[in-house]
Amino acid sequence: MILSDFVNGIEESVTLAAAAKAKELKAAGHDVLILTVGEPDFPTPTNINAAAKKAIDTGKTSFYTPASGLPELKKAVNKYFEDFYGYSVSPKEVIVTSGAKFAIYAFFMSVLNKGDEVIIPTPYWVSYSDQVKMASGVPVFVEGRQENDFKVTLEQVEAARTDKTKVLLINSPSNPSGMIYSEEELRELGNWAVEHNILILSDDIYHRLVYNGSKTTMISTISDEIRKQTIVINGLSKSYSMTGWRIGFATGNPEIIAAMAKIASQTTSNPTAVAQYAAIEAINGDQSVVDAMRGRFEERLNTIYPILNEIPGIEVVKPHGAFYLFPNVKGAMEMTGYDNVTDFTDALLEKEGVALVTGDGFGAPENVRLSYATDMYTILEALDRIKRFIENNMK
Ligand code: PMP
Ligand code: GLU
Repeated sequence: MILSDFVNGIEESVTLAAAAKAKELKAAGHDVLILTVGEPDFPTPTNINAAAKKAIDTGKTSFYTPASGLPELKKAVNKYFEDFYGYSVSPKEVIVTSGAKFAIYAFFMSVLNKGDEVIIPTPYWVSYSDQVKMASGVPVFVEGRQENDFKVTLEQVEAARTDKTKVLLINSPSNPSGMIYSEEELRELGNWAVEHNILILSDDIYHRLVYNGSKTTMISTISDEIRKQTIVINGLSKSYSMTGWRIGFATGNPEIIAAMAKIASQTTSNPTAVAQYAAIEAINGDQSVVDAMRGRFEERLNTIYPILNEIPGIEVVKPHGAFYLFPNVKGAMEMTGYDNVTDFTDALLEKEGVALVTGDGFGAPENVRLSYATDMYTILEALDRIKRFIENNMK
């Protein structure tokens, strides 16, 4: 056997795999509508691109930056926290990483011992569970039921707690459900974590992408006690349309942040210097483009939600944030004779050229995920084809 037990024990990211497959089919000339990956379709704002070009032209390319990020960028991250969280973060409380995904991985690698448990509310973003396993931890799934807007309750997490519970994961707004925990719900969960000395990993990456007047509360802002217990994950990929730049950050307990920087120093060394200069401009520069992109997502959501909801066999809760719809397709599977969601999405791709992500990678085997971070024409055409697929394949 060439490959290690470690790598054989984890899965490839299903979102990236579904996106790669759809893009490959499209490049080979197939008529494919891609609603897979969470990748905003807007160009990165021009002021950010200009800052990166300037960094290249002024030679900011031939050195390693500190493993935890450029001091100027940490200052910008502090401004971000003052603006959106209402508190400051000192340089020791900040690490800038090669994407938020790496920050989450470095966090698990820094705090988990073999067998430590991480409570992950379902449905959950695909990478959390494999990253926990990569750090020799154990994911413990707690079901966020569709009738409770895909959210978990205090009673459910308490029932899942053992003496091995080390971390509670919160992702609000959530990928894939788009649901948001209220301040009251977060206060309960936060106080519970403080009481039992359980760390909170709060992945806030979608906090600025909320719609129709919804408000996001970030758990670390609720009290000093909860904040001390929390490592916050955030990044620029989603709100600034910067997925390809690979800039994320984490803030919190300096001891954990230093441990994460040690891991970065032995793996990525530092996030790309040019991308860090772009990130400084993203945070310090004009924010109106972020608001404009948010408005476009809102318009799409409000247009497509009622259309999707009308399709027979599909039940969908209207999301408040992120840029995904996460319908339950159990009825549609029954009507078309598919007994699992992977066969259903594969057939939809094959027969109608619509690429979605199956829900099982998110811990929800009756659901599919549609990303509306793509243009309206593509989404509306895809909805037409999904309806046709169900109608034409009735058993
Ligand atoms: N968290 C969530 C919930 C996500 O959907 C993503 C998507 N990529 C990430 C973290 C990671 O973002 P990135 O690595 O692009 O910064
Ligand atoms: N988070 C995005 C998604 O869920 C990007 C893909 C990934 O990082 O897995 O589609």
